[in-house]
Amino acid sequence: MSFSSLFQDLLDLLLPRFCCGCGSRLARGERYVCPRCMMQLSLEQDYDWRNNQRMLFWREHTVLQRMGAFAQYRRKSIVAHIIHHLKYYHHYELGPWMGRWAATTLQPTGLFEGVDALVPIPLTTKRLHWRGYNQAEQLARGLSEVLGVEVRTDILRRVANRESQARLPLEYRRKNVRHIFSLNPDAHPEGLHLMLVDDVMTTGATMMAAIKELEQVPDIQISVFVWSWTHPSADTIANDGMDNEAEAS
Ligand SMILES: [Zn+2]
Repeated sequence: MSFSSLFQDLLDLLLPRFCCGCGSRLARGERYVCPRCMMQLSLEQDYDWRNNQRMLFWREHTVLQRMGAFAQYRRKSIVAHIIHHLKYYHHYELGPWMGRWAATTLQPTGLFEGVDALVPIPLTTKRLHWRGYNQAEQLARGLSEVLGVEVRTDILRRVANRESQARLPLEYRRKNVRHIFSLNPDAHPEGLHLMLVDDVMTTGATMMAAIKELEQVPDIQISVFVWSWTHPSADTIANDGMDNEAEAS
């Protein structure tokens, strides 16, 4: 046994690592998520982005090209636990790993074809300081490593530090979600195919607000990648973009 593997064993003994999906202890060589959770998650993956009802509906109203997700989001699922670790456990290195996994899996489906730059949905300054990193940017970094597409954090800005949307009354949230982003006048993304990146999509209001802001740019093409999303029913899609995310960013 080499010194480094002995050292690793000792480290695992003193500082045991746990699966972000189920909390069970990870074996040596396993990272972030145990094989059982990875297997379970692969059953819940969502490759069929071409037939997504939400994308077909949004395409009629926006300049959207493509929109896809890696996994389905359900409360208390493995996916929800992984996202929770990424956002609230200061587990920032999980993001690039999740991004690489998603990019490797979805690249053959054509979702990322022709994309010029990845644009993570920005956080408010307050939220960024509190968390220390933007989880969407961490995901985009992982995607970028596999796809060889640059990450652009200079194009879109979050304009105001607002109260956490989830705590506000519904009517107020609807008004509040509009104009939460602004374009950086010095970025010049004209003629580019941008892919917006986020960790979770529920109602899609935050994403829609970002698309609406980017739509003003001449000759722009916009696609969307979210690591996970809830499957909307036909009647909730019509209200997409009206209400804010159940998951506060
Ligand atoms: Zn697990």
